[in-house]
Amino acid sequence: MRAMVYRGPYRVRVEEKDIPRIEHPNDAIVRVELAAICGSDLHLYHGMMPDTRVGTTFGHEFVGVVHEVGPSVQSLKPGDRVMVPFNVFCGSCFFCARGLYSNCHNVNPNATAVGGIYGYSHTCGGYDGGQAEFVRVPFADVGPTIVPDWMDGEDALMLTDALATGYFGAQLGDIVEGDTVVVFGAGPVGLYAAKSAWFMGAGRVIVIDHLEYRLEKARTFAHAETYNFAEYDDIIVHLKKITGHLGADVAIDAVGAEADGNFLQHVTAAKLKMQGGSPVALNWAIDGVRKGGTVSVVGAYGPIFSAVKFGDALNKGLTLRMNQCPVKRQWPRLFEHVRNGYLKPNDIVTHRVPLEHIPEAYHMFSSKLDRCIKPIIVADG
Ligand code: NAD
Ligand code: ZN
Repeated sequence: MRAMVYRGPYRVRVEEKDIPRIEHPNDAIVRVELAAICGSDLHLYHGMMPDTRVGTTFGHEFVGVVHEVGPSVQSLKPGDRVMVPFNVFCGSCFFCARGLYSNCHNVNPNATAVGGIYGYSHTCGGYDGGQAEFVRVPFADVGPTIVPDWMDGEDALMLTDALATGYFGAQLGDIVEGDTVVVFGAGPVGLYAAKSAWFMGAGRVIVIDHLEYRLEKARTFAHAETYNFAEYDDIIVHLKKITGHLGADVAIDAVGAEADGNFLQHVTAAKLKMQGGSPVALNWAIDGVRKGGTVSVVGAYGPIFSAVKFGDALNKGLTLRMNQCPVKRQWPRLFEHVRNGYLKPNDIVTHRVPLEHIPEAYHMFSSKLDRCIKPIIVADG
């Protein structure tokens, strides 16, 4: 089969690979119809995630058709069209029993924090991902769900991560009616977080980024008030000014370890602070929220990022909540919103590319070229 293959930082290729096989009676093999590239894939692409091994295939957002199932799989059969949450999870360990699917203990027992994620390095279990013609899906009775016949495939794809995570980011903000919510980052996750904040009763939603075309999307898709941080000496001073000098009630970091250009130049914390990169966003979230407010962090951070104002967070009595999104927990409510037409997830998809063009798609998405917001990979035929 053809598959995206990682060859080192900033180097991805499309190569021939063996079709994955059933390795465990609970496995399914899925023929991928749609896959997406996520902001999280950029952390891998930039060489930031430890133990990202050359030869592995990325892709944790995918929708496809069941090709084969292992002998103990009960709920799926070949031909079923499924959406697969980005977490690999067993559904029955201590953590899964508490809905903490992103912390499943059985899929990645060596890890101290994260569970399993498709196509997300050996730190996250070493599972190959769905930016390929086929992908192995463990615990096939647990994660995948048949795409409802009323749901568009691209909408289902957005639900496998970006939309669920944006919604989760808003949830972690513990928004109460009338709150002012500021979202840092107008990528897919930030756009969905901003949209979701309204569902939770926000009275005002502010989105901050420096890419004007994405801020435009935040206005049209999420009806947010937007500010370009590049236009202000200090965006936080401005944010305070427009929030009665208090700050926002809730701040959502939907940026994470942003690394524009050559990440390897950014290795010191001091440099990172100066680069307009992501620890800046987390610190902005802490600075920009009012005392007693809540900071929700869904932007992803790798181990070298420690320039976080934890002292300030503590002294301000903030609630910091964070996790990798337990995707499936978000689905019942989101399915309703999509079905009712409150939300059209694929409104943010900007590029549809064939598998063979994955390298170009990574470059475009990483460098934010051609007004790219969300590129997706469409299988041939
Ligand atoms: P993206 O790269 O498309 O978007 C990030 C946006 O942040 C860009 O528009 C960029 O211009 C903007 N930005 C950079 N620095 C900023 C700053 N200081 N202030 C405000 N905006 C800034 O990525 P995405 O797909 O939207 O993902 C966003 C983050 O969420 C990534 O870190 C990703 O790894 C993470 N993520 C986490 C989970 C989870 O489960 N927690 C799931 C999916 C994605
Ligand atoms: Zn993702």
